[in-house]
Amino acid sequence: MQQERYDHWIGGQSVPPETGSYFAVCNPLEDTKLAEAAAGSVTDINRAVETAHQAFQSFRHTLPKERERIMCKAAEILERDRQDFINILVDEIGSPIKKAGFEVEKAITFFRSSASMARSATGKTIPSDAPGKFSMSIRSPIGVIAAITPFNVPLIKGSRLSCNPIALGNTVVMMPSEEAPVLAYRLAELYKEAGLPDGVFNVVSGDGYEIGDALTSHPLVKMVTFTGSCRVGKHIQELCGQLGKPATLELGGKSPLVIMADADLSAAMPGAIQSIFMYQGQVCMGASRIYVQREIFDGFVKKFAAVAGNLGMGDLRDESTVIGPIISERQRARVKGHIEDARKKGATIVTGGDWEGNRCQPTVLTGVTPEMDVYYQETFGPVTSIYPFDTLDEALTYSNDSDFGLSAGIYTQNLKDAMRYVHEVESGMVHVNGAILHDEPTVPFGGVKDSGFGREGTDEDIEAMTEWKWVTIQM
Ligand code: NAD
Repeated sequence: MQQERYDHWIGGQSVPPETGSYFAVCNPLEDTKLAEAAAGSVTDINRAVETAHQAFQSFRHTLPKERERIMCKAAEILERDRQDFINILVDEIGSPIKKAGFEVEKAITFFRSSASMARSATGKTIPSDAPGKFSMSIRSPIGVIAAITPFNVPLIKGSRLSCNPIALGNTVVMMPSEEAPVLAYRLAELYKEAGLPDGVFNVVSGDGYEIGDALTSHPLVKMVTFTGSCRVGKHIQELCGQLGKPATLELGGKSPLVIMADADLSAAMPGAIQSIFMYQGQVCMGASRIYVQREIFDGFVKKFAAVAGNLGMGDLRDESTVIGPIISERQRARVKGHIEDARKKGATIVTGGDWEGNRCQPTVLTGVTPEMDVYYQETFGPVTSIYPFDTLDEALTYSNDSDFGLSAGIYTQNLKDAMRYVHEVESGMVHVNGAILHDEPTVPFGGVKDSGFGREGTDEDIEAMTEWKWVTIQM
């Protein structure tokens, strides 16, 4: 980290918090203080929103070529400063370097794909029944968008939840996770260097539980895009419902992965491992439920546990490290609680279950029952349960026995089984013969049931972040 104290970013510059208070940003590996960040207040939120609203008055009229240029430049700067962003992701949120590099690469593609959105918000002409009337509809940006991001992928979500709205002519106030304010601040500097006009991208850091409602309910905020837990997401949805304000919600998951007996295990094994253990399981799409057809169950569990038990837990800057620290005491308590509850209620811990400092060993459970917390709840750690099943019907019933519906997957060589699973699993995203952690800029990314509302993606964001205006001209 280059500086020790990070203010808010409002109107293209560093702005100290109105209260003068800062909070400690800690390295999750050792819980040592890395820096301090501005503790935002409602006054800071109001200032940022009013600044973004002011900036919108002129930014909405910028030409597509200008917004396109800024996003292409942002991608170039991120490529140039890749190592700087990787360092922040490693130090601030305990990303193993491989995951940090993955985030940077994704963010570059998000900037590049958003550049094309500046030209894609097209309208249409409409045949009219009125003689001599020319009828058309055009799109306009909607104004200030609040972007609220989680701790686990602060660059992926920080870039996506800002570049798409900005490419469409909107302005943004971002409230990053209190665990990752430095990354958001650095993103603001990147936009400034890319030539983004002052006030178009603003960051207010602080305790979301204290100041979040002020942001969501500010009358000048026209839309909220939120990525985070189901609990906070539902609260935001309720507030937005009362205010008649649109919200896109990307929430948690308990994603199922099915391995049929005919699966190519040379692909299914690494796919399953990656699907749950990347970034020590702190990924929304993580395969925290793995269903394996009974004929191959014992062999699969044995091999899976052996691979899991050997995943790298060394230096975060070593390419072979997969498992880093769990981000905070609150999150560690939940992961520990789920493992202990399962242990107490009779589950078998095939591997893992213990801690090395703030790192939880990759943990594989069998014999998990619905009475255990880990059965239905999101653990958000390197913990998965493996269950046997006999038929595809059963695999579908188990997969759908969840309030969540974010990602899902099946490994099989039988196309008919694969397509039945694709159609019948209750999930916003489903992958056949591939890892269930996957994201790209142009896909409709998101979940059903408690996993969210609305989708992210270039086309989806054009729909959500512009509004239609119907226009007629009497000739
Ligand atoms: P969280 O819900 O605790 O926090 C997310 C953000 O919400 C933070 O910035 C926090 O400050 C803010 N917040 C808290 N109260 C608020 C309020 N009243 N109003 C507005 N904002 C408020 O989530 P987290 O622990 O940072 O992230 C983990 C969760 O995010 C997991 O459930 C994970 O599955 C989910 N997630 C989902 C996706 C997805 O795309 N579906 C991606 C990443 C993470």
